[in-house]
Amino acid sequence: MSVRVGIGYDSHRYASGRKLRLGGVTIPHTHGLAGHSDGDAVLHAIIDALLGATALGDIGTYFPDNDPKWKDADSAFLVKETVDAVKAGKWAVHQVDVTVVLERPKLAPHIGQMRAATARALGIAMEHVSIKAKTNEGMGWIGRNEGVGCVAVATVKPAGS
Ligand code: MG
Repeated sequence: MSVRVGIGYDSHRYASGRKLRLGGVTIPHTHGLAGHSDGDAVLHAIIDALLGATALGDIGTYFPDNDPKWKDADSAFLVKETVDAVKAGKWAVHQVDVTVVLERPKLAPHIGQMRAATARALGIAMEHVSIKAKTNEGMGWIGRNEGVGCVAVATVKPAGS
């Protein structure tokens, strides 16, 4: 079976007056993430990993950040659109693994919900969605709590396999 692997990265800056959306859920915090859509760096990294695995381009190809259609868009919807593109390419999403890097807030209490919401958006079992969080040990822009960085790996397999 030919499995393919893709990598995705995303970062967003913290901004006041925004809801913090990560992994398709709202997480209580003083700041949200700036962005044209809801700023969900976890889902954006997954989208780029899926498009990487299938060599279909990148998130900007599908959801340009100057298109009013995607203003404040729920990124779970963008994931569903991406999965449709993956399926149209005769691939099926197999599994994703994500590492989120941020100083605050602590994500541990929310990881279960994030995995469930992400799995729902992807249309796969929660057991095939891994989300891990860590700090940057106080170093650099993440360490200064300026924003969130995220890296994702996705595997896809031929549809019907
Ligand atoms: Mg983004």
